[in-house]
Amino acid sequence: MRAAVLRNTGDDKVEIRDDIELGPVGAGEVKVKIHATGVCHSDVSGMNGTIPQPAPFVPGHEGAGVVSEVGEGVTGVAEGDHVIVAWSAPCGECKFCVDRKQPNLCVNIQFGSMGKIHFSQDGNPVFGFAGCGTWAEELILPSQGVVKIDPETPHEIASLVGCGVMTGVGAALNTAKVTPGSSVVVFGCGGVGISAIQGAKVAGASEIVAVDLVDSKLEDAQRFGATHAVKPDDLESAKQSITGGDGFDFAFEAIGLPVTMRSAYDNTRRGGTTTVIGVGGMDQQLSFNAFELFFDEKTLQGSYYGSADVRSDFSRMLNLWKHGRLDLEGMITRRIGIEDVNEAIADLRAGTVIRSVITF
Ligand SMILES: [Zn+2]
Ligand SMILES: [Zn+2]
Repeated sequence: MRAAVLRNTGDDKVEIRDDIELGPVGAGEVKVKIHATGVCHSDVSGMNGTIPQPAPFVPGHEGAGVVSEVGEGVTGVAEGDHVIVAWSAPCGECKFCVDRKQPNLCVNIQFGSMGKIHFSQDGNPVFGFAGCGTWAEELILPSQGVVKIDPETPHEIASLVGCGVMTGVGAALNTAKVTPGSSVVVFGCGGVGISAIQGAKVAGASEIVAVDLVDSKLEDAQRFGATHAVKPDDLESAKQSITGGDGFDFAFEAIGLPVTMRSAYDNTRRGGTTTVIGVGGMDQQLSFNAFELFFDEKTLQGSYYGSADVRSDFSRMLNLWKHGRLDLEGMITRRIGIEDVNEAIADLRAGTVIRSVITF
């Protein structure tokens, strides 16, 4: 079958292959025919090594499609069900899933499926990115890694919910719990940043300031609910006029760089909340002086997969979309075939798209 393969970590292009094979569907597993899959920045982070991932691998973790086969013992989904792929799925049994009510932090399924190799080429193993690998016509996943949805939902819309939308909207609603009437600043206006802006709007924030270096992204941000859109140099004056210089109630970082994480913290008001969504490198450091953490009483937190319980939150996202509260169609900048995925990767690096969606 057809799939995109990254041969070596650090390569900037993927190969489009027609000779990728899948093994048999094991007990507790499902085979999914992918109909739509987004090109997310984390795929690029996996390609360049920021996110650890053995190669060769099939990238892609933001996908939706139809279950084509179920393995022994699978009861939750059946052949023909429309599903969204969850790249970090809850096992449903561990402390994170049950006692702590933080199923997004359960790694049992993800780490388990990362260790299983489902793809091959000429008999040689090919990994799936983050235990998924949705840039393929079909893939095999643990049954917990798919969430059944209303079959009326267009696959392209559903695919976005699988990563970027859940991550960004979830960061605003679940992680930060943005409050009505609050002031918000969002650093980075790619798919996740735009989703955080939409989440802040859904939550009833009164001012939402988008910060980005790219003019077209600032225009996009306003289309999705940002009340102000500024370049980094103009942020200080926006902060002065909106917050009287105090800083914002909520700040979100959706880039993954120490400098913007630090700036998000600095632009949060005393007692406010800074939420880091961007994925930075393990070798990059962020520093704080030992006085400010105490004195400013800010909450600094990460947000992993939008603090979501995918089993209920995917349909919650789709409900918001269905009722016009989230604009997901507008986030799809380009629809492409898998053969054009290298162009989409280049567009993402250049910052000229919110999302390119591959359809099969
Ligand atoms: Zn678990
Ligand atoms: Zn993603």
